[in-house]
Amino acid sequence: MATNPTSEVDVLIIGAGPAGLMMALWMSRLGIKTRIVDKRTDKVFSGQADGFQSRTLEILDSFGIGERVWKESNHLIEVSFWNPDSNGTIKRNRRAPDNISGLSRFTEAVLHQGRMEAFFLDAIAASYPHPADPSGNPLKVERMVLPTSLEVDEAAAEDDDAHPITVTLRHLTEEEATPTQKLSNLSDGLFRSNLAGDDVGEMLAQSKGRADVREEVVKAKYVVGCDGAHSWTRKALGPKYEMKGEMTDFVWGVMDIVPITDFPDVRTRCMIHSASNGSLMIIPRENRLVRLYIQLTEVSTGGRVDRSTITHEMIFKAAQKIIAPYKLEYHYCDWWTAYQIGQRVGQHFTKCDRVFLAGDAVHTHSPKAGQGMNVSMSDAYNLGWKIGLVTKKIMPRKILSTYELERKQIANELIEFDHKFSRLFSGRPQKDILDETGVSMDEFSKAFNMSHMFTSGLGVNYSPSALVSKPPEHALLLESEKEAQHEESPVAKSKLSAATHCKPGMRFPSYQVVEQCDARPWTLHHKMPSDGRFRLWVFGGDISQPAARDRVNALGARLEKGVLARAPRIEMSPAANPFAGTARFRLNRPPSVVDVMLVHCAPRGEVELLRDLHEVYHPFDAKLGWDYDKVFADGESYHEGHGRAYEGYGIDPEKGAVVVVRPDGYVGLVTELGEENWGEIEKWFEGVLRMA
Ligand code: FAD
Repeated sequence: MATNPTSEVDVLIIGAGPAGLMMALWMSRLGIKTRIVDKRTDKVFSGQADGFQSRTLEILDSFGIGERVWKESNHLIEVSFWNPDSNGTIKRNRRAPDNISGLSRFTEAVLHQGRMEAFFLDAIAASYPHPADPSGNPLKVERMVLPTSLEVDEAAAEDDDAHPITVTLRHLTEEEATPTQKLSNLSDGLFRSNLAGDDVGEMLAQSKGRADVREEVVKAKYVVGCDGAHSWTRKALGPKYEMKGEMTDFVWGVMDIVPITDFPDVRTRCMIHSASNGSLMIIPRENRLVRLYIQLTEVSTGGRVDRSTITHEMIFKAAQKIIAPYKLEYHYCDWWTAYQIGQRVGQHFTKCDRVFLAGDAVHTHSPKAGQGMNVSMSDAYNLGWKIGLVTKKIMPRKILSTYELERKQIANELIEFDHKFSRLFSGRPQKDILDETGVSMDEFSKAFNMSHMFTSGLGVNYSPSALVSKPPEHALLLESEKEAQHEESPVAKSKLSAATHCKPGMRFPSYQVVEQCDARPWTLHHKMPSDGRFRLWVFGGDISQPAARDRVNALGARLEKGVLARAPRIEMSPAANPFAGTARFRLNRPPSVVDVMLVHCAPRGEVELLRDLHEVYHPFDAKLGWDYDKVFADGESYHEGHGRAYEGYGIDPEKGAVVVVRPDGYVGLVTELGEENWGEIEKWFEGVLRMA
């Protein structure tokens, strides 16, 4: 019998949905030898996820694709709550903003998943040629390929150079890889809903007995299972990896239609609770489309729902009943599906920090709060740079344990949130205060408002680890702060005096500053592309004053001899840094993985970049000269006002601060600027990087 061909790869990604593509994008930007396989014949073309939360848009923007989503998507600015009046007729009860203002430059936006997948594929292609990837082959999704076996050599797990995972891959024919659309000739998504079983068995069965089945063996350093709710990878890891949770009796239908209706708020996000016909959520989409989430109160429950009993006519009738007395019709339906609400989360997210699970493969819940795709991409965003920098031997392997620590916490918070939110939304509205089984509409709208910090993704707060240094008093404060994450606690303010609004474990906020060299206003996130580098932000205070300037320059000298001399360098993709890639503009040698930036609050005109500041703030390259893109003033811009960054970050201009930000934009360390704190900065990097 012929043996299967064998090859080696650093990272094998199984599944090319939102999580898999985010993982692949990181790998392409970091130049890691990677393969990504998917059992499907193509990307998603309609339906599925459509909601992009503020944090996700910030992340996409750090890869250069946020603007594309932002331009094509519909922006959700307002939400209307419709409840039954005393006669049981639905009435608009209240309007409210859909987001908390001032936290992010992005609000929630909607665009279908397929567009976003296309942007990812473009961004991956743009990462090449990559100086760190000698193969010269751009990473491409290999479709109609699925794994049939996976083994981990646990004894070799801690060997940096080993490829301890062996995976057999099967190449499918188009026929084998196409799921059967059993139920209608409309574009339905039931075959991917949680009412459907896994189709891998069906796919493999078709090739049984065929002589020309093509298989290969891949030996990988890391495998990431991004293969969705029915995850083959999770099952291959054994029963310990089963997801735990529960299924409810609530069944919901979803339709993407162009509605013809006299309902006045159809272009606003709406939460409608009818008196006795169930609930409806309206999400206005791009191109006149509207997504309806429709509760199916008449579908019999009490266990698993038989998906063959669900039709789009039945779902639409349910929507018409809920929205009555308003009329609702349509001529065009883009997609529809149904699902049963349930919340499940994996017990383990990794085996030996070699095989990882991300996205729906390790947590599932109801889609109405628009979280699944966002949290799935965020899992991969958290993991990608860690695997990349470990593979490049820039970070030690122990950092990989922070993936499960950080993302399991978020998955549990998501499940808890979804459990509460979906029950409040699926419950019958309370008739009066004596109606104990009904849901109070006040409670629902309060829960909705409270949920913004979580649903926007901006409230993520990772636990202490080598990557997140929280002072002990800060860790204690977090519990009380969970309730009002962005509110300023006076105790926190006094203890975290260096930068009270920059919290270790949370994402680094973004404020406008003015570039020292040319007066252009920038929001700081724009200076932090996802290129694998750590940012060390020096908030130097008023450096027109000699004492403050001397302090900033003394720190510069210390960084030059210490952290910057010892930290590894990193080769970057042309897409991550336009000066790193093309032959004409390639830096003489790759930059340090630690990128030092300065924000001062002196009058801009009183600072001369080259004359006044240490060279770490304007490094010199033999071919390209000085880098002018590292020093910014917190001041008035000519056309776009004053960003008040020091105020925003909670930094006292007299004291200044140093904030270390991880490659994924989360704050790792906040400390004061004084000499007595410099050792802390060095210690933090020693715990995270393989220093010379
Ligand atoms: P998936 O998107 O499921 O991708 C998994 C990929 O792996 C697929 O391409 C699949 O073909 C492939 N695969 C599976 N098994 C194998 C195998 N054995 N071998 C090879 N490849 C395999 N989320 C939001 O954030 N916002 C929303 O508004 C939203 N709305 C939703 C509406 C509906 C109706 C539904 C059903 C879901 C919605 N979600 C939403 C959830 C969202 O779609 C998922 O959470 C998200 O797609 C998960 O991404 P993923 O990459 O983890 O998995």
